[in-house]
Amino acid sequence: MTSAESPEVPVLVRQEWCKGCGICIAMCPKKVLEAAADGKVVLARPEDCIKCETCEIMCPDFAIRVVGGRSKEVARGREDVADARA
Ligand code: SF4
Ligand code: SF4
Repeated sequence: MTSAESPEVPVLVRQEWCKGCGICIAMCPKKVLEAAADGKVVLARPEDCIKCETCEIMCPDFAIRVVGGRSKEVARGREDVADARA
């Protein structure tokens, strides 16, 4: 499969930072996340992710990040406003 054919990955997990506490798994409203055999997080159902950012907000170790989530859109919007005022 080429990268052009790959489905978008909605959430990135920094495996070396994930301690497998399971908070994000418990808090995800869409049950996107599961624990692998080593306890670390994997995306079991990425197609169900609604990019709510709960996992990113709740992770105490900054190990999980939502790609293009809402807060990034807000941040980008603020930058646009700042640019327009400059
Ligand atoms: S909350 Fe963070 S450290 Fe805990 S399992 Fe999820 S990604 Fe790993
Ligand atoms: S962004 Fe929301 S729906 Fe997607 S994996 Fe994180 S908690 Fe689950």
